[in-house]
This record gives sequence, structure tokens and C-alpha cells, in this order.
Amino acid sequence: MHYVILRDDDTCAFTPPACLERLYRPFLERGMPVNLAAIPEVRTDVRTVDGGLEGYLAAGSGPDVPFAPIAQNRGLVEYIRSEPLYHIAQHGCHHDSFEFGDSNRRELARRIDRGANSLREAGFALPETFVAPYDRISREAFVEVAARFDVISTGWFEARRVPLRWCAAYALKKLGRRRHWRAGGKYLLSHPGCLLSFSRPRADMMASVREAVGGATLTVLVSHWWEFFRTGAPDEKLIGVLHEVAGWLASRSDVRVVSFRDVASGDVPVN
Ligand SMILES: [Zn+2]
Repeated sequence: MHYVILRDDDTCAFTPPACLERLYRPFLERGMPVNLAAIPEVRTDVRTVDGGLEGYLAAGSGPDVPFAPIAQNRGLVEYIRSEPLYHIAQHGCHHDSFEFGDSNRRELARRIDRGANSLREAGFALPETFVAPYDRISREAFVEVAARFDVISTGWFEARRVPLRWCAAYALKKLGRRRHWRAGGKYLLSHPGCLLSFSRPRADMMASVREAVGGATLTVLVSHWWEFFRTGAPDEKLIGVLHEVAGWLASRSDVRVVSFRDVASGDVPVN
């Protein structure tokens, strides 16, 4: 059996619920859980390297405040809470550039707790999973995150960044060439890059998804809702590929789509 986790990043106070509905209805109606890595209290002036507003701000709209808690978007929160197959993971706190690449443990802890509080105030259950913004997580951040979450999902793991007490487990992971690993009772999940992205050739997308899923026991498939609505209008071709993926996953009797919560419960073999 091959297991798949769908992880969509950057849902925040700026996200129109209609965008999520358009993208994920074909998954939800087939009974597949969708994990939304949600930004609890998004900073509203985050820029990309070329100076433009970050995609998750530019593709939506939100209040004119420095930090926008997700609870301020009542329509979004009600929409997500009305669909039991949506699961929330905590995606940082403000999603500033590399906010969890820092080494100040007190500040890291403050951000994690502030983010968790913001999600709680929106009425979401306490997430078991943490997703670091920009896949950047320092050694100190790992320590603080591991004290609060059972699952950490990121792009990759590096010896110089994992906690020293995890070094033996990390060496075994490297030796065994494992994608995912366990240390300190936590599940540490990597992903094969953002296969469903506007920056990839569309013709190869389905093939790369099939290859990733078929080549592993567990694959985390990452997408970003705003990439499908970059100009404000839906990118029909890209959405078409995403929905093709939904159909393919549903057609395979040897593929099961699960949630991060299923992993935390120990119900999913990770390697
Ligand atoms: Zn993000």
C-alpha cells in the first residue's frame, strides 16, 4: 500500500474560501482528507525577493492591519470548520521570511504559542503537526517545535539543523536513505518538492506525482492554493492537473490518502 498526504500551504486571513472549495472539492467528495497548513496570524506586508507582495497575500484580500489573525476571516473559518475532511496544521505564526530559522528560543517559543492561540481562537482543534514557513527550521526551532507537536513536515533535514540529541537517529536515517524518520517519539516527514506548482512543466506533473507516490510508502504532496489563482482568476489548466491527480488517487486500490493525524496516531507506516 502507498500512503499519500495532501498538504496545502498558506491558508490565512487573506484566503477566499471559494479558492479552497474550487481546488479541493474533488478530493473531499471522494473522501480524501486535505491538510491545510494555516498561517495563524499572517503578517500583511511580506514581500518576495523581487519586491512584490507574497503570493498568498496578492491572490486574496484582507484587513489593512500589520498582522491579520485567521479568525478575522469568518467566512473562511466557517467554511473550513464545516468540512470534516479538512485538517489544520500550524504553519509558523506570521510567516515572515525564515521566521523559524532564528536561534532565539524564547522568541521561537513565543511565536509558536501565539500561533497556536490564534488557531484556538478561530475554533480549530489543537494541531498535531507543524509546517515551517519556507521549509526553514533551525536547531533551536526543532527543539521548541518538538516540545509541542507530534509531527514535523518540512522539505528536508540537515545534520547541522537537527537537535544534537537526534543525531544518532539522523545518522540511521541517512544510512538507510529514508525519506521520513522518527526521533524523540516524533514523526519527521520530508516531501519531494512542490510537484504541483505553476513553476513546473504541466505536461510532466501527473507523471512526477505517479512516480513519487509509487516510489515510496508515504508521500507528502505539497501545493499552495494561491499558485492556482495568481492573477486573481483561476488557472484552469493547473486546476485541471490537480483534479486529474484526485481522479488518479481515487482510481488506485493500492493508494490511500491519509491525514497527518493518522500518522500521529501511529496508523500509517512511514517508511
Ligand atoms: Zn508557506
